[in-house]
Amino acid sequence: MIETQTYKQKLEEERKLLVQELSSVGVKQPRNPADWEAREEAPADTADIHVVADALEEVEERHGLTDTLEQRLADVTAALSRIEEGTYGTCEQCGKEIEKERLDANPAARTCTAHMA
Ligand SMILES: [Zn+2]
Repeated sequence: MIETQTYKQKLEEERKLLVQELSSVGVKQPRNPADWEAREEAPADTADIHVVADALEEVEERHGLTDTLEQRLADVTAALSRIEEGTYGTCEQCGKEIEKERLDANPAARTCTAHMA
């Protein structure tokens, strides 16, 4: 029997943090609240190629970070809805119970250790 209450708390805390981080690097898309777009400030008004290159690089980095955070947020949200549905802690691949150690390490895990991607 999995103690979902503990994991639920962890997941809710993580979700809060992720949303905070996403708000600082990304902009929530009004049409799809689950989709975040990296903030894009226009490169400084300058002809200096180095300044422009730096600004573009920063935008690239933010894109990557936004994607990572968005993916993580999706996993956490999915785990929370599995708690609501009463299916939390079962492997999406084989339907077996996910090892406690794995859930302790990652409460948002979708699969058992054998079916880790
Ligand atoms: Zn499995």
